[in-house]
Amino acid sequence: MSLDDAAEELASSLGVDKTEVKADLEKLVSYSVPMDEAKQSLRRKYGDAGGGDGGEAPSRTDVADVTPESGNVTVTARVLTVGKRSIRYEGEDQVIFEGELADETGGISYTAWTDFSLSPGDTITAGNAGVREWDGEPELNLGQSTTVTLEEEPLSVPHEIGGERDLIDLEPGDRGRTLEVRVLEVEERIIDGRDGETEIKSGVVGDETTRLPFTDWDPHGAITEGASVRLENVYVDEFRGVPSVNVTEFSTVEPATEVRVSDSGTELSVREAVAAGGVYDAVLTGNVIEVRDGSGLIQRCPECGRVVQNDQCRSHGQVDPEDDMRIKAILDDGTDTVTVILGRELTEEIYGGTLEDALDHARDAMDRDVIAEEIAETLEGREFSVRGALSVDEYGANLDATAFEESDEDPKARAETFLTEAEP
Ligand SMILES: [Zn+2]
Repeated sequence: MSLDDAAEELASSLGVDKTEVKADLEKLVSYSVPMDEAKQSLRRKYGDAGGGDGGEAPSRTDVADVTPESGNVTVTARVLTVGKRSIRYEGEDQVIFEGELADETGGISYTAWTDFSLSPGDTITAGNAGVREWDGEPELNLGQSTTVTLEEEPLSVPHEIGGERDLIDLEPGDRGRTLEVRVLEVEERIIDGRDGETEIKSGVVGDETTRLPFTDWDPHGAITEGASVRLENVYVDEFRGVPSVNVTEFSTVEPATEVRVSDSGTELSVREAVAAGGVYDAVLTGNVIEVRDGSGLIQRCPECGRVVQNDQCRSHGQVDPEDDMRIKAILDDGTDTVTVILGRELTEEIYGGTLEDALDHARDAMDRDVIAEEIAETLEGREFSVRGALSVDEYGANLDATAFEESDEDPKARAETFLTEAEP
């Protein structure tokens, strides 16, 4: 339903001026309040004590049959997870509860705008719950006109109850997750947050399955480098194309028995990594088909680190640039290609000399391009295994390499593996 239609419908059912209702509705929607919740809020404002859509209470719906077009529904389902977090709404912090519910037919995410004291494992009937579309999927909204009743008979559902997960299973959008991880890297930073300058912690956590970046928005003392911790009630969003763990004031952080961390990254094909939308610690193996322009000796702005040409920085104008080395190589594993970016250290290793050696070399040859040419001769047509963070943007996939080595794998065997995987 369009905003205009919704305003029309509200105005006629409440007997008030449409322009006024529409302005209110636009304002609420601009604050990301779901349409259904916004309409209920306006019904309260304009004094329709009855609530609902004016019709009878909806009859029970199976979770699998809930669609964004369902209107209001009544479902009986098991609470799988409960996450608590605070969002800003009309300039005020509002605490919301989010997670997943399921019945025998399927699962669905929910957002509760008031505290219904939900706990994982509860079987509830949510009466008159709104449905909105979120990321292409229906989501239940439990608001002030929703009734939540606890059922005594637990519903048996084919889903895991509780939010315990391995890092590899996390996806952006996950709420109310519980993790046992080791803090691999952590730094304290001051950011310009919604309440002015705020101290946060950020870094990398790992478990047996993989590693992921994290942010602690309410710095917890137990989060220190090397510590094994149990994190309850964290949520997952996306940062630079990979899932990122968020610890908040509502999360519980407790010491855990030592968590083993995998030393190897996640091995996958370029196509799989791109389809995943980004992988924080990926290992890809393929042929370097091209060393791109902008490789070898480069110059950076001393202020912002951007690559500059002719001493001109896009942000800082005329600068006295600093020399650096890097490689941008296109890796092809037969499923897709990715641009691998190697920093100074790995580039020096591949070149077989330091930055100073390369500068001497370029001076003698009176040509800075000789370095990139030499690197291209070393890399092109050979097979490498590369590890690092893979992100995907509108220009394609990039991998920031932390390790790069010649592959000892038999290319034929690998091609066969991919062919096998490609079969349905
Ligand atoms: Zn600059």
